[in-house]
Amino acid sequence: MKNFFVLLAVIMISCSSGEEKKLPFIRGVYGNPGALLDAGYRYDSLGMNSVFVRSVSFNREFYENAREQGMKIFVEFPTLLGRDYLSSHPEAWPVNEKGEQAPPASWFMGICPTDQDFWDYRVGQLEDILRDFDVDGIFLDYVHWHAQFETSDPILPETCFCDGCTGLFSKDKELDVQGGDIPEKATWIMENADREWRDWRNSILNGWVSGMGEIVKDMRPEALLGIFYCSWYPEEHDSALYRTLGIDVAAFARLADVLSPMLFHKMKEKEPSWAGEYIRWLDEHTGAGTKGKPLIWPIVQSHNNPQVVSPEEFREVMLEGSVYPGSGIMMFSDRSLLEDPGKIEVMKDLYLNHPGFR
Ligand SMILES: [Zn+2]
Repeated sequence: MKNFFVLLAVIMISCSSGEEKKLPFIRGVYGNPGALLDAGYRYDSLGMNSVFVRSVSFNREFYENAREQGMKIFVEFPTLLGRDYLSSHPEAWPVNEKGEQAPPASWFMGICPTDQDFWDYRVGQLEDILRDFDVDGIFLDYVHWHAQFETSDPILPETCFCDGCTGLFSKDKELDVQGGDIPEKATWIMENADREWRDWRNSILNGWVSGMGEIVKDMRPEALLGIFYCSWYPEEHDSALYRTLGIDVAAFARLADVLSPMLFHKMKEKEPSWAGEYIRWLDEHTGAGTKGKPLIWPIVQSHNNPQVVSPEEFREVMLEGSVYPGSGIMMFSDRSLLEDPGKIEVMKDLYLNHPGFR
């Protein structure tokens, strides 16, 4: 009889945890949400149910505070951001078609994504987070080859032609790359095997997503794998989403649990209505949202760059960014909210009172 009750309890726990898997509409803040607490706010009284925290701002105190207020905790992971690592590992610098170290793309500095030591370094960081904290998800950020897209005038260099990358490309595609030095090899590749090169670069990026995803699922099976990514349409900027950044959104949709397009309308000189258009396009193009997986939780812009985003405009882009089949939202970032309390009031009103956010 005792065993029966144990069995019953197990069944009941299984059922209730099954129920819990149905997520509420995700009402988040991205960045260092702990700054809201420092300023005297509470997450729960702002109507939030989730925090999206940068790895650098994530620690035990943040975790405990967020859990105490009932938040789901999603950690941003700076996948292919090279800046800090490169200062002590210049050998991982992405190399351009001239055989030179590619200069920073505005504030962004990428990395050679086939550098084994860098891979090991990121794996170690991811394992540390997952071992120490029972997080609700990991959100991969900077999942693209070296470039700058958060602007209306993108910087789109050709990389990476280091010996490691061209050697691996040659091996994977069974191509005998011609040329005596890097500029000659780069020219040969782009003139004779451009399609294979772009496909190979995409496969490297997808390898990062699937590899990181395996670690997440292995160490925290319940945690979600999300991706923050550039929300260009495939044909924009001479197809640079695939050609230069290496991104195939349909592949991301197969590999991730959540897609978080970076719908930064002001930086890209778009209207707030573009946020809603993009979400509908994403669903049509990949089945994200309506199929149930991956989920769509966009990040919209509240940050004043390059012009001011007024509280009224912020409200508009929040409403556009929460359209069906999206099932969550957050904004970039906590700091922009604290700089203009009018935006905090907008967020609070939507999160607490608007039926589109329930
Ligand atoms: Zn390389």
